[in-house]
Amino acid sequence: MYKSLESQIQPDGEITRRTRTSDYISIIIPCYNEGKVLHVLHNKLCEIAQMMPEVSFEYIFVDDGSKDETLEIIRALAAKDQKVKYVSFSRNFGKEAAMYAGMEMAAGDYVAIIDADMQDPPTMIPQMYKGIKEEGFDCVAARRVNRIGEPKIRSFFARQFYKIMRKLSNTEIVDGARDFRLMTRQMTNSILSVYEYNRFSKGIFSWVGFSTKWLEYENVERVGGESKWSFWKLFLYSIDGIVAFSTAPLALSSLLGIFLCLIAFITIIFTIVRQLVWGGSAYGWSSMVCIILFLSGIQLFCIGILGQYLSKTYLEAKNRPIYIVREQSGGNDESK
Ligand code: UDP
Ligand code: MG
Repeated sequence: MYKSLESQIQPDGEITRRTRTSDYISIIIPCYNEGKVLHVLHNKLCEIAQMMPEVSFEYIFVDDGSKDETLEIIRALAAKDQKVKYVSFSRNFGKEAAMYAGMEMAAGDYVAIIDADMQDPPTMIPQMYKGIKEEGFDCVAARRVNRIGEPKIRSFFARQFYKIMRKLSNTEIVDGARDFRLMTRQMTNSILSVYEYNRFSKGIFSWVGFSTKWLEYENVERVGGESKWSFWKLFLYSIDGIVAFSTAPLALSSLLGIFLCLIAFITIIFTIVRQLVWGGSAYGWSSMVCIILFLSGIQLFCIGILGQYLSKTYLEAKNRPIYIVREQSGGNDESK
């Protein structure tokens, strides 16, 4: 049977949290084919831990069904560093699922999420911790101020996506916001309580509320390996984001329908009057073909919008687990 990891890990985490004296930060690292960069990241995280002796750390590597040597490297890291914990999925479930699994496993008072490829500078972690501890924020998150090094076309569409999102949704999605952030336990628990299958974390982070401080930084290129996001994958992800955080497209398609009905009504009156006053028969068939094509296009488009929402509802109704575990640190190899 599929059980949630939460049921096993949460109680221990609670007990450890209550009995600890120093602050404890869990750093979650979603990894998909990141064999080339894991050592670099782990070394950097160890340096950060040394810079913050007042804090204890755990590094939770989530292997999202990698096909390269990622899992072997993580196992080796776990064998030599007891701060390293890991969970490995039965297949690639996507970064959203990996972040969720990491949050379920995290036992820290504070939880950070960071990319494996060093594009999220780990050196910002002490600053994030300060933002929460000293300035009283619930979350300190990173925001890229530029997209240097990224293909121009990708930056262009990303910017358009944020513009559309701002118009369509009440949930604020900040341009350039990264998943890279440090959050309090309270905020992490609220995110865990949002148990939806079609996850769009950038929206969920904002939807749960809490105060967020934004730290700006210049884009950094990944240290090795390659980006897992093709243009098509990003396009589908942006549709997920819109469908998950706005129902405005449904209202727009209804408005479009009403508008076209009005035009149809006017043209019907025009046609009747023309027939009565000037007579004549069926001329104008070519314009008619254009109109029919146009209207069928719009109808299909609107049915498509409806279909998007229906398909997401269908997937949520199935209530499938967000991820399935094949192996995790501590030697539990069963399917979860
Ligand atoms: N990632 C993941 N599962 C996926 C795709 C990506 O866990 O299916 C991880 C990846 O290993 C990395 C992070 O998500 O740590 C960001 O991915 P990537 O660097 O490819 O995205 P980009 O920086 O190009 O937006
Ligand atoms: Mg990256």
